[in-house]
Amino acid sequence: LRKIKEGKAEIFIPDPKDYEKQGKFDPSWAPVFYNPKMVFNRDLSVIAVSVISPKKIVDALSASGIRGIRYQIESSSSSEVIFNDKNPRSVDLIKKNVEINDIHDATITNKDANSILFEIISDFVDIDPFGSPSPFILSSINATKNNGYVAYTATDLSPLEGRAVKSCKRKYDVQNIKLSFSKEIGIRVLISKIIREASILEKTAIPVLSFYHDYYYRIFMKVMRGARKADENLENLGYAIECDKCGFSSITKEMISKCPICGNNLKIVSRIWTGQLNDQDFLVKINERLANFKYLANYTNIQNLISKLIIENKYVTNYINLEFVASRYRTNVPSRSKMIECLSDATETHFDPKGIKTNKNFDEIIECIKKIN
Ligand code: SAM
Repeated sequence: LRKIKEGKAEIFIPDPKDYEKQGKFDPSWAPVFYNPKMVFNRDLSVIAVSVISPKKIVDALSASGIRGIRYQIESSSSSEVIFNDKNPRSVDLIKKNVEINDIHDATITNKDANSILFEIISDFVDIDPFGSPSPFILSSINATKNNGYVAYTATDLSPLEGRAVKSCKRKYDVQNIKLSFSKEIGIRVLISKIIREASILEKTAIPVLSFYHDYYYRIFMKVMRGARKADENLENLGYAIECDKCGFSSITKEMISKCPICGNNLKIVSRIWTGQLNDQDFLVKINERLANFKYLANYTNIQNLISKLIIENKYVTNYINLEFVASRYRTNVPSRSKMIECLSDATETHFDPKGIKTNKNFDEIIECIKKIN
């Protein structure tokens, strides 16, 4: 074992030297999983959980216990934390880590996450799996009480972004297809799946914080009870559409099959979330809390992301991939800042360096692309 420090926690993790010896270098080969590339995810989650300030936290897929431990130390010291992992070696390590961090109100279980999530009820559940969170959506919504929160990490970008189409159909029940703005569509597919699963339990959920980073999505959803609320929110599922010929695209509740600009057949991804990806109040609260978290390794990056999300959240419908649209008009790709200036009602998207979001209509977008060139 090796001791490391992350945030205000000190934990033991398997010493990479021990498993690297066998020629295995990936953290997923370790007897207990710890991925340093996920520190950004955990740092921002620590702040989000401090905004939620839950009384009871379930870290359903704990591995080393790092999340639950950090939530207790850094976000909400009055929380009771339930740590769970189906791997017995993980549970041994969590016990050790909980002890050295002096976590008082801890319960540690060695169950299948789906089993424990149907036994308990809490006001914050964290689902941080390998790959897709789909197998744990129904149970995690079940375990989250009315007006409580649940967070998911998804690293299976291929199905979500429309590259592994069959896998997307299996895991998310969405007929996906690769479009020029699939980075954003991916998170909308995931949210849609969560809402459809929640509705089975006569519950629903809305995203309060969603972002893309490196090679994963992370979302925090607020869960609410009520068949009528579930029905109403299902109405917010709709379509991502794109025209290969003229470059028109939109996120819309209306089903249309022909391009309103040029009449060509549209490419369509149906049953995606068409609402806002973040709750403005939640973002503002995170922003206000930031000053307490200057010690975080990713403090500046988090500050940048949250400022971007606060602006980006005002734009839903039109995501323009500048490279894709410019290629349809055989023009050079305009610089993002010049496009934003020309449109005036537009902003960068954190999803990709070539993307902008705008409330302007397609004609105005094309006019700007041509004018800048
Ligand atoms: N949350 C951890 C962190 O931030 O470092 C990482 C969790 S790791 C990606 C996923 C963990 O889920 C592994 O430790 C694995 O043993 C556990 N796991 C996988 N399937 C499970 C299941 N069905 N029930 C409980 N634990 C499971």
